[in-house]
Amino acid sequence: MLVEVAVAAAVRGTFTYRVPARLASEVTLGRRVAVPFGRSRRATGYVVGFPVEPPAGVELRDVAGVLDAFPLFTPELTKLLRWAEDYYLCPPGELHRAALPPGLNTRRGAEAPARRGVEWAAAAEGAAEGLAGLGRKAKAQRALLEYLLARGRIPVEELRAAFPRGRPALLALAGKGLARLDTEARVARGGLLPGAGEPPALTAAQQAALEAVSAAAGGFATFLLHGVTGSGKTEVYLQAIARARAAGRGALVLVPEIALTPQLAGRFRARFGEEVALLHSGLSDAERHAEWLRLRRGEARICVGVRSAVFAPVQELAIVVVDEEHDASFKQEDGPPYQARDLAVVRARGAGAVCLLGSATPSLESLENARRGRYRLLSLPGRIDDRPMPRVELVDLARLRRTVPTFGLISPPLAEALGETVAQGRQAILFLNRRGFQTLVVCEACGQEARCPACAVSLTFHQRRGLLLCHYCGRAERMTDDCPACGGPRSGVGVGTEQVEAAVRKLLPSARVERLDRDAVTTAGDVAGLLARFARREVDVLVGTQMVTKGHDFPGVTLVGVVVADTALALPDFRAAERTFQLLTQVAGRAGRGAEGGRVLVQTWNPGSPAVACAATHDYARFAELELAVRREHGWPPFQRLLAVKIEGSEAGARRTSEALAAAARPALGRGVAMLGPAPAALERLRGRSRWQLIFRGPDPASLRRVHGALQRLAARPPGGAAVRFDVDPYALL
Ligand code: ADP
Ligand code: ZN
Repeated sequence: MLVEVAVAAAVRGTFTYRVPARLASEVTLGRRVAVPFGRSRRATGYVVGFPVEPPAGVELRDVAGVLDAFPLFTPELTKLLRWAEDYYLCPPGELHRAALPPGLNTRRGAEAPARRGVEWAAAAEGAAEGLAGLGRKAKAQRALLEYLLARGRIPVEELRAAFPRGRPALLALAGKGLARLDTEARVARGGLLPGAGEPPALTAAQQAALEAVSAAAGGFATFLLHGVTGSGKTEVYLQAIARARAAGRGALVLVPEIALTPQLAGRFRARFGEEVALLHSGLSDAERHAEWLRLRRGEARICVGVRSAVFAPVQELAIVVVDEEHDASFKQEDGPPYQARDLAVVRARGAGAVCLLGSATPSLESLENARRGRYRLLSLPGRIDDRPMPRVELVDLARLRRTVPTFGLISPPLAEALGETVAQGRQAILFLNRRGFQTLVVCEACGQEARCPACAVSLTFHQRRGLLLCHYCGRAERMTDDCPACGGPRSGVGVGTEQVEAAVRKLLPSARVERLDRDAVTTAGDVAGLLARFARREVDVLVGTQMVTKGHDFPGVTLVGVVVADTALALPDFRAAERTFQLLTQVAGRAGRGAEGGRVLVQTWNPGSPAVACAATHDYARFAELELAVRREHGWPPFQRLLAVKIEGSEAGARRTSEALAAAARPALGRGVAMLGPAPAALERLRGRSRWQLIFRGPDPASLRRVHGALQRLAARPPGGAAVRFDVDPYALL
């Protein structure tokens, strides 16, 4: 008997082995096996097929052993992985490895913890007073209790997502009588948890979307659910999944960065109880392994997870949901690069399932697929309860400068709005798509910027620490007031969140101001604690980066200010405008979640740019139309396909490798295929290595595969010795 094996190594293609008679019954599709590889090396492999004929001219070797008692991959997943390996031009063994939970690759035998019913937590009577009594040292307990006070009674699963290592603190709070824990009996199959509340009666638009999805159930179809923030998309997912469960089938839900959206995990858990398995990076390896096993064994039937969960072993898959389908975090950048949203559609097709992509700002790729009839467009045009969309006003900074020559980061109209909001006891969010104090430090005499010599990116000035930091490699330098090159005076240009925080404190000395970014708040628990304090209205103004655009509903927020809308527009990326539109829309969606309505002020140097202007009028359709025209004209996706070749090595080696690859690619060009570069990447040096890239543009995937075919051999052994990586449908061209 012969077996085809994907070996866990950086090689393309699979290998054929003989199966000794003693192993014949155990070597089945999807199993992990040990095989000899190269010179006497033992490697892990994955069984992907059973060839009839041995390959010509190869001396076959034997499979050495079988590693698991059951196949790790079902035939459905094996098929998906084979498709992905072929499409993304990546080593099949590495992809199989990436598809397994990390705990399974490193250890074996972890058992799923016994779970009886769903555990709930709530703050006890008098906990608010008890909070003051908790000592300074009990930081984790304070954050957790603040969270409970803000959220009421919630499934412990939500707490686990918000505070990955918060179990000891929770037990300590329970011990002090400040928190209550209780367990509800096992949920009946497909039934609802008592106390979780009946699902709400759907609005007409939600009902229409649900019926369309249900009508397609049992076969493959892809839907693009376009609905503004708060329009009830999640409720549609929940009820569509409930129907799949009622038919005894399973569901997969992909979400971006689940650690920032613990409420979502809690909502699924509250509705479906222990049928839900969570897969995200906030869990320990052992926990992820345990959740994966529950799915593999069919004990859990619904998976809610991040990007890599697209490979989760959900049994009898009937529906695949991708929430916030436009989110860039679905694109894997390290290891085998893949786009989980696109793979979700492929998986649904292979499994005969329905795929539901949801977003308030669908990616232009998905929109174009809907226009061409490949996806069906569903829309939820209004917010639940007809709450109005927040009013967005643009503050034209250039024009304002002409009449008001001096103002700081916060223009007079924004300052006035902030003052009013805080005076009325309401809350505000100030958003900036950047962190640090002053982003760019330049010499006023010679114009030289402070840059990281290893990474060739600007250093960021952190005032409190008096340091210039490189945000790519972590290099830190002491800030000096004179330029190291010419001795001239240096000053900061650009804005960081720390500077905005300082400006707000100066403007409103009595307001409670806090900052949320990766420098101010480092652990998932601290993020949840700060957001909980904000939800409890113990903070008046929250200043932050993208982190403030996701997460909780804040009914107290009536003002959202965008400090500079243009920072994301300046990125060297063809998706910069789309990204800006998405960010502005998302942050504007934070305003007016409550009955009091909301107002959004956007400060900008480019009020006329489509991204800014259309975000202000909530006009997705117009933005999409304008931006699609630009993409079409310049030959960017979704009209053309891209293949990036990323080269990293020594300065001379990377250049030599790039030039050799470019020369080898030339015969494959023409017939609509163009080559951009070779050029140094925008991020020219990273961790001491030189980076170059070549970008190929073609009308379809097949045209780019021809380029790959022409380069493959050379890329494996490039003359300059640099590392070469292929990135199909690339995102970050930095
Ligand atoms: P989205 O996912 O589009 O942001 P959600 O599904 O989270 O929207 O809904 C927004 C809010 O409205 C949530 O608090 C949700 O519980 C509530 N909600 C959703 N659908 C309904 C409905 N049909 N009736 C009442 N409330 C609803
Ligand atoms: Zn650096």
